[in-house]
Amino acid sequence: MNKAFVREPEDDGRAFCPRCGNLGVPVGGAALDTHIPPESRAKMLDAAWFCGFYRCDVAYFNLFGGVVLAEELKGPVYPHDANAPICACFGLTYDDVVADVDEGTPRRIREVVARQKVGEAECHALAADGRSCLGALQELYMRLKSQG
Ligand SMILES: [Zn+2]
Repeated sequence: MNKAFVREPEDDGRAFCPRCGNLGVPVGGAALDTHIPPESRAKMLDAAWFCGFYRCDVAYFNLFGGVVLAEELKGPVYPHDANAPICACFGLTYDDVVADVDEGTPRRIREVVARQKVGEAECHALAADGRSCLGALQELYMRLKSQG
């Protein structure tokens, strides 16, 4: 492993993808268990970073040179696969957001908000990056809407 190619984590815990250099999202063991098949799971301990750059091959990486590619995962994950659900908990896809934009009201996204509020979401375990998808959904909605 070329040491010069691996950036050390910043003091605040930030780490950058060894392949594309994007800022990674820290992910806990629950999400790793969900997405990484047993044969690859040992490459990551209970902490890794998710690379959310859609053109990057890397899904997870750690600070010890361990890398799990998106194609190694149990199934396709967004944004590495644009057809995979954006919302891992309730299955909302890109097409659902397009449908919301077409209807002129974010009905499907609001439903995700409502279900998250009552505690039905399991983002920490189900989402590839271990986080709520609401930011990504809202961003996509606004972007598609502005494209008219
Ligand atoms: Zn990357």
